Amino acid sequence: MNDRSSPTVSPVKMHEQVKEVLDAYSEGGFTAMHEMDLPFPSLTAVSAITGSAFTSGVLGHWVLTQCAANLLKAFGSPDLVAKYHEPLTDGRWTGTMALSETQAGSSLVDISTKATPTDTPGTYRIKGNKMWTSGADHDMTENIIHMLLAKTPDNKISLFLVPKSIVNDDGSLGERNDYTINGVNHKMGCRGISNCYWSLGDNSDGATGYLIGEEGKGLQAMFLMMNEMRIHVGLSAALCGKRGHLESLNYALERKQGRSPTTKEKETIVNYADVKRMLLTQKVHSEGALALCLLASSLADSSKTSEEDKHVLDFLIPIVKSWPSEFCLEANKWAIQVLGGYGYTSDFPLSQIYRDNRLNMIHEGTHGIQSLDLLGRKIAGPGFPLLIERMAGCVERAAKTGDDEIVPMASHVKSAVERLVEVTKKLGGVGKSGDVQLMLANSHDYLNMAGTTVIGWLWLEMAIAAKAKSSDPSESFLHGKVNACQYFMIHELSKTKHQARLLESLDDTVIKTKVEEL
Ligand SMILES: Cc1cc2nc3c(=O)[nH]c(=O)nc-3n(C[C@H](O)[C@H](O)[C@H](O)COP(=O)(O)OP(=O)(O)OC[C@H]3O[C@@H](n4cnc5c(N)ncnc54)[C@H](O)[C@@H]3O)c2cc1C
Repeated sequence: MNDRSSPTVSPVKMHEQVKEVLDAYSEGGFTAMHEMDLPFPSLTAVSAITGSAFTSGVLGHWVLTQCAANLLKAFGSPDLVAKYHEPLTDGRWTGTMALSETQAGSSLVDISTKATPTDTPGTYRIKGNKMWTSGADHDMTENIIHMLLAKTPDNKISLFLVPKSIVNDDGSLGERNDYTINGVNHKMGCRGISNCYWSLGDNSDGATGYLIGEEGKGLQAMFLMMNEMRIHVGLSAALCGKRGHLESLNYALERKQGRSPTTKEKETIVNYADVKRMLLTQKVHSEGALALCLLASSLADSSKTSEEDKHVLDFLIPIVKSWPSEFCLEANKWAIQVLGGYGYTSDFPLSQIYRDNRLNMIHEGTHGIQSLDLLGRKIAGPGFPLLIERMAGCVERAAKTGDDEIVPMASHVKSAVERLVEVTKKLGGVGKSGDVQLMLANSHDYLNMAGTTVIGWLWLEMAIAAKAKSSDPSESFLHGKVNACQYFMIHELSKTKHQARLLESLDDTVIKTKVEEL
């Protein structure tokens, strides 16, 4: 679908193709698939395909709904689960996550929405304002269920289920809850889902909300949803990158421009080295990011994972959210470039994909916040050494293959992993010695370095797997993987050498820069 008309407010009216896509998704059985107890990586793989077909955030409705349902199931009372879970999972209702407020985005401790208990246990009156809620209102389903954070009288953050329409005991819909959608944010992309600012309890002593989990434990519970959402954000970035890659590849295979230096015939641009470079860059970024999201999904597959897996995932989450968001946006930049002037027009979908993808560095914790989390917290946890062990194990396996192509690539990954260990030790040491500000001043570069190293490892895993299936260069899918791995090692992983030198120099230029000098 194209995104030329944003949702409009009062009531929020979606582009009509959005409902068509969601109905087709539901009728095709994709919503039910999530209730079939399939492995999480299989679901992620399916989402990668459907999501790259429909960018513009349209499937965000379903992702949010599914995450809200999972959160409810994990922490909700049996009564709430019985009433709300099924309609959320069979496509009848949609869900949202309502955390942010105008003054509280990165810093959720500053939310000011208040929840007051009523005489009915578990039922509260909620007053306040919410900002940036995706899917907070639309005209596609008869009810919308918000997973909302508010402060209880002890000033602690708790989690509430706030329905658009109150649900009666027999499951029928009762009165409209007391909240008002005050407007939609007009976004540069992702226009397949509305984004609203709204207020609760304007006309009464408060909107009705039901406590989920324990009072004061809202943020901890919400982390379940946020971590799941962070994998989806990384995935959304990866599939925007992949879609851009495929769109620009199709164009490059047809577009003739200039003459071949050898035959003097009109040349198709895909044959030019610089165009190949742009396509390869997109391939290594988007397929590397996709591999990372699949890995994260397998580590998050609660029924099958070990404690160690959970620790590794905990370390990786900021990388899963951020590396694809930055590098697959970069991939989209090259996709536009492959099309030349046409890439800059709305005749092709690339400008839309780029705009859609730009959100991923912002929502679910900005890039900056993720980098602070990685360097300020995660490196001290048990996940980092376990991850290093897994990467080193892959290098060892690769070296044992004795393969002419794999062995040199393993040595690139080995050096990158060693660099990451050294840099982490050095920065961690600075933090421990008390200069946290200096440690965190280069957190963005650390996030990129750690992310690029992890993606290097995953490319090596892909190359080993491809080689094990066939070493025949005419097998273009498999040989393409080995070749892309080589490209990543030489053109991308090598950048971590410079990043390591920079990080080890403990540069404090940004700290020293005065605000008036910016
Ligand atoms: C299209 C869209 C959809 C969204 N969907 C939802 C949703 O469904 N539900 C929901 O609850 N929220 C949603 N959000 C909100 C989103 O999560 C926030 O925008 C995001 O967390 C950043 O908060 P903020 O906009 O207030 O920016 P701020 O927190 O003001 O940050 C501004 C800049 O300052 C930096 N910064 C902030 N604090 C620090 C710090 N301590 N140290 C260093 N740098 C810092 C940030 O990295 C950022 O670059 C959505 C946002 C958008 C744009």
